[in-house]
Amino acid sequence: MQMCPNCDKVYDSTEYSRCPYCSGELENKSGESYYKNCPNCGGIMYWDGCWECTNCSNEIDTDEDDNDGIIEH
Ligand SMILES: [Zn+2]
Ligand SMILES: [Zn+2]
Repeated sequence: MQMCPNCDKVYDSTEYSRCPYCSGELENKSGESYYKNCPNCGGIMYWDGCWECTNCSNEIDTDEDDNDGIIEH
């Protein structure tokens, strides 16, 4: 395995001669998540069974469909 110095993602160097994420060969689906704006503090919430705020630990018990968009991280 090889870690790309540009994007810090790990790829199989036996399969790819250069980083497939930077060259656009592979889309990194795991780098995108649904998010929700926390009504309590305005922070970002991620869904993990329920919505959890990364800032104030507020939880909202709704489905993943109840999101405000997709965030790349
Ligand atoms: Zn890369
Ligand atoms: Zn919050």
